[in-house]
Amino acid sequence: MPGLDDFLAANVSVALVHYPVVDKNGMDIASAVTSLDLHDIARSARTYGVDSFRIITPLVDQQDLIKQIIDHWITGVGSAYNPDRKDALALIKVHFTLAEAVKALTQIIGTPPRTVVTSARMANSNLSHAGLRDLVKISTPLLLIFGTAWGLAQSIIDEADYRLEPIQGNGSYNHLAVRSAVAVILDRLFSGRK
Ligand code: SAM
Repeated sequence: MPGLDDFLAANVSVALVHYPVVDKNGMDIASAVTSLDLHDIARSARTYGVDSFRIITPLVDQQDLIKQIIDHWITGVGSAYNPDRKDALALIKVHFTLAEAVKALTQIIGTPPRTVVTSARMANSNLSHAGLRDLVKISTPLLLIFGTAWGLAQSIIDEADYRLEPIQGNGSYNHLAVRSAVAVILDRLFSGRK
């Protein structure tokens, strides 16, 4: 039977931005979609019960690639081979822009989600992980925004409602794959509630 945790998680969506993100020189670019990110983030999203996994790319060839991967697992051979994967990949929605994703969620929820950006090097963060847990507890619809390449463009960070404090490792090395960062943050949000 669905419990409070399921209700809270249903208020949370994850976005993975491929444009605008920055390259190693800090220039805004569009990155390529990685099949691993699609699978692994969709599986984390499904495991923690989040509402949707929204992939942002304005590149039509990249959108076609995402569609091919999803089709294989949702209606193609993969759907019979591994129904669990179908469940996870069914959470994926594709948008040209982050604004389009926010608009789609606003239409579904009836109110704009609060946006939360993430980075390993977040200057001026204004939200702790404990604060994020509190936001979810009061049922605020949230869109957790993750980057690719060398991270989210400054314009995306500046426009967000909240800048989440980075996950800290042990020591100065801090280079998590985005799919690892998503799993850690979802676990901090939802683990230990039951
Ligand atoms: N230095 C870049 C940064 O964190 O923005 C590296 C980008 S990393 C390859 C891709 C994405 O993973 C980031 O945009 C962020 O969403 C997420 N990420 C990686 N490490 C993180 C950390 N320590 N804390 C929070 N998010 C992290």
